[in-house]
Amino acid sequence: MGSHDTWPPVYDETCLPDPRQRYWSPHLEQMAPGQREALILRKLRAAVRWAGERSPFYREKWEAAGVHPEHLRSLDDFRRFPVVTKAELRREQAEYPPFGRYLCVDPSEVLRIHGTSGTTGKPTAFAVGREDWRRIANAHARIMWGMGLRPADIIFIASFFSLYMGSWGALAGGERLRATCFPFGAGVPGQTLMAVRWLLDLRPTAFYSTPSYALHLAEVAAQEGVDPRDFRFRIMFFSGEPGASIPSTKRKIQETFGAACIDSGSMAEMTPWMTNGECEFRCGMHLWQDIVYCEVCDPRSFEPVPFGHEGTPVYTHLERTSQPMIRLVSGDLTRWVDEACECGRTYPRLPRGIYGRIDDMVIIRGENVYPSAIEDTLRAITGFGGEFQVIISRERAMDELVVRVECSLEAARQAELSRGALDRLREEIATRLRAAIGVRPVVVLEKPGTLPRTEFKARRVMDNRRLYEEAVGEAQ
Ligand SMILES: [Zn+2]
Repeated sequence: MGSHDTWPPVYDETCLPDPRQRYWSPHLEQMAPGQREALILRKLRAAVRWAGERSPFYREKWEAAGVHPEHLRSLDDFRRFPVVTKAELRREQAEYPPFGRYLCVDPSEVLRIHGTSGTTGKPTAFAVGREDWRRIANAHARIMWGMGLRPADIIFIASFFSLYMGSWGALAGGERLRATCFPFGAGVPGQTLMAVRWLLDLRPTAFYSTPSYALHLAEVAAQEGVDPRDFRFRIMFFSGEPGASIPSTKRKIQETFGAACIDSGSMAEMTPWMTNGECEFRCGMHLWQDIVYCEVCDPRSFEPVPFGHEGTPVYTHLERTSQPMIRLVSGDLTRWVDEACECGRTYPRLPRGIYGRIDDMVIIRGENVYPSAIEDTLRAITGFGGEFQVIISRERAMDELVVRVECSLEAARQAELSRGALDRLREEIATRLRAAIGVRPVVVLEKPGTLPRTEFKARRVMDNRRLYEEAVGEAQ
């Protein structure tokens, strides 16, 4: 829908498919892979030329690496272009405030400024051009259409409307799709309880938040005597955390709410961030490669790995003019495949979504352990109360993995009747975690509702080994 003969592409803002139609852009979504590669290369060359002409940041970087936009004649040539890291963007903005020298439009064309919360370092400023914002809305509408959303839907957006790009992206897509949107937000004291009431009154058909928040909402609803199924959502779509692609979390959300649980999301820098996005068949996020080009790469060489293999996504904007990202390293961990999807789209897929960070992975007694594997295992155990914490420490130079697990109300009740019930649950959890991650943890059972809840992205892992090392160091 729109013209791809020019770059950047121009979208027809009045276009809207028939609601019975599966695809927003049938031609682009079902393209043969070879034909799509040719389209990607065309857009890539235009994007790289655009950045090369306007950005001293990219020019200097490419000169140092001995590459030039004119060298880009095939997708293979593109692998020689150096990757960009988030740390580099932060440095660039510190030296050339506020947007860095990769802002490739006139500052007067910037429609919106967004930013990171800066929890993991100095905040980054995002400048989005007016035309870019329209293209972002069109991209998100197209992908949300693929999730099954239609103009008749009412979308309830229950995430922070401040320094969280997710909320704004979902709103822009929903509005372009001509759905009815309620930018409800999150994070104000008592707001979750308010959400329960609004949801019962308004009956939205679709819901957006982080997966952790949806589970929190279900608990608050249950405390109020409301069955989350009574909200009668048809579609729940998520971003911000890996949860919606973790099989047991997905199942848990679908069973709790009786709705389809759909995963999406790349990075705020990469807005339109929905270009990793599942379709209605929910078998892993599609990579909508003609909007943002994603290469899943070896985390050391940044060469793409073959389909079927694991690596870190490296993203390139194909339609952004304001702060184009060209080979931005995500640091996330995923596996990609090119097997056919039931929906008929020919995009590659991430069957297990984004399941970790390169730097999230913790090595415990020589085993690579991903927190998402612990979550997946726990959510499949009857008697699990919904929240957990992982604490890694060191006992006499030996790694110690402690998992604090809330038991369910039912498990707590049984424990009062039978003394052995908790021991059996503890043993089951330890055994199943040992099988899943290769390390036998110390399992500490906690009463239901005692571990901290989150309204945003959960932080469930504490690595205290450095504390131990410092303590030992001081003692010496
Ligand atoms: Zn599909």
